[in-house]
Amino acid sequence: MKELKEYYKRADKYSSAVSLLYWDMQTYMPKDAGHYRAEVISEIGTYFFKIMVDDILGRLLETAQPQNEIEEKIVSVGKREYYKYKKVPPDLFQEIMITSTMLEQKWEVAKPNGDFGEVMSLLEKLIELTRRYADILGYEDERYNALLDLYEPGMKAKEIEQIFSNVKIFTLKVLEKVESLPKFEDPFDREISVDKQKEFNNWLLHYLKYDFNKGRLDVSTHPFTNPIGLNDVRITTRYIVNDIRNSIYSTIHEFGHALYALSIPTEFYGLPIGSSASYGFDESQSRFWENIVGRSLAFWEGIYGKFVEVIPEMKEYTVEELWRAVNRVQRSYIRTEADEVTYNLHIIIRFEIERALINGELSVKDIPDRWNELFKKYVGLEVPNNTLGCMQDPHWYGGNFGYFPTYALGNLYAAQIYEKLKETIDFDNTVRNGDFEIIKEFLREKIHSKGKMYEPAELIKLITGEPLSHEPFVKYIKEKYSKVYGLEI
Ligand code: MG
Repeated sequence: MKELKEYYKRADKYSSAVSLLYWDMQTYMPKDAGHYRAEVISEIGTYFFKIMVDDILGRLLETAQPQNEIEEKIVSVGKREYYKYKKVPPDLFQEIMITSTMLEQKWEVAKPNGDFGEVMSLLEKLIELTRRYADILGYEDERYNALLDLYEPGMKAKEIEQIFSNVKIFTLKVLEKVESLPKFEDPFDREISVDKQKEFNNWLLHYLKYDFNKGRLDVSTHPFTNPIGLNDVRITTRYIVNDIRNSIYSTIHEFGHALYALSIPTEFYGLPIGSSASYGFDESQSRFWENIVGRSLAFWEGIYGKFVEVIPEMKEYTVEELWRAVNRVQRSYIRTEADEVTYNLHIIIRFEIERALINGELSVKDIPDRWNELFKKYVGLEVPNNTLGCMQDPHWYGGNFGYFPTYALGNLYAAQIYEKLKETIDFDNTVRNGDFEIIKEFLREKIHSKGKMYEPAELIKLITGEPLSHEPFVKYIKEKYSKVYGLEI
C-alpha cells in the first residue's frame, strides 16, 4: 500500500505541472506561444498517461494489501482506471490528443464566421478516432456509454434519456406560462466599469470565505477552476461591461467548484480517490452555489448593502427587483448565458446529437441541420448561424464527447442535495445571515470528504437516501419561480 500510494503521488506531480501550464495558457501566456505550449502539454500529458498504464503500477495494484475502507477504495478505483486505460494503445491516445488540439485551433478561427465546412473533415476524423477509442474501452448496450463513463462513472445513456425527457416536458410548460406574462424592466441593462466589477467580485469571494491563501481570482475568456496542486485551486471569471451578472455568477459558480476541490481530505491528495466523484457531482457544487444560494432572495438580502455601496446607481432598485432580474427566464441561443430553467434544454439537444454521432446514427455533415431542427423544437428559436448554433461550445472540437450531460445532471444533483439540506437547517436564514460555514460543513461531510470513493449513483443515494430523480429539481423550480413571477408555476 505504501509503495502504491507513493507511486500515485509521484505521478501526480506531472499532472500538476500540466495543470499549471494549462492555467497559464488560459490566463497570462503571450498569444504567439500557443503552438509550443500545446506541444509541451501534449509531451508531458502523454508521459503521464504512460506512467498511469505502466506494468509496475499494475503489479502494485495487484499485490497491495488494503487495511481499511479508504485503502480498499484506493485499490478498487485505481484498478478500474488502470485496466480501462491500459487497453488503449498510446498511439491512439496521442493521435486523439493531436487531432483535438488541431481541431480546437481550427474551430477558434472558424467560429466567428460560423464556417462549419472549415472544421468538418477534422471533426469526422476525430469522431472516427473517438469511436475506436470507445470500442477499445468497452461498453454495455451502446457505444456512447463508454464515453459517458469517462465523465459520469456507471451512468447509462438510457437512464439519462428517461430523466431528461421528464425535465424537458416540465421545462416547456414553465416556459409557456412565463411567456404569457408582461416583461419587466432589466436593472442590469447598463454599463458598470471593470474596476467596480472587480471590486465587487473580490468582496464576494471574501464574503463566501474563499481561501485566498490557497487560490486566486484571475480573468479568462471562459471562466474555469483549476486544481493545480495541493492547496492551490485557482478560479477565473470574465468581466462584461454591460452585464455585471455575468462576472458575479461566473465567480460564484467557480467558487463552488473550488470549494469542492479544496475540501477533499489532504490525505487523499494525488490518489485515485483524491478528486470529485464525477463531472456531474463537480457541477452540482458549482450550480448549487451559483443558482440555489447565489440566485436566492435571501442571498441578495445579504449582499444588497455592499452591492449598492460599490454601485450606487443601483440604489434606485429594491432588493426584490434585483433578485427578479437575476432570475428572468427566457429563450436564448447561448448555453453559458441561459437561465437555470431553460439551461437543461440546451444540454438535451447536445446529448441527443452527440449520442447519435458516436453511435453512428448521424453523420458530421448533418450536425448543423439537426442542431437547428432540435433547437426550434425545444428552445423554440430559429438559429440564424452556426456561431449561435452548433459551433458555440468548444467541447466537441476538443474531443470531449459524453461531457455535456453532466451539466444537466449537476443541476439535478444540486436540487436533490438542497432538498436534503433543507431538512436539517433553516436555509433562507442561514444564507441571509451569510452563515455559509453551516452549509459548507454539510457539503463537506456528505460530499467533499468522500472524494472519489463512490460512484455518483451510490453517492447520491448515500446523501439523500434516494436514487437520482428529476423531482427535486421540478419542485425547486416550481417553488422559486412561483415567487419570482407571482403566479403558480
Ligand atoms: Mg462548471
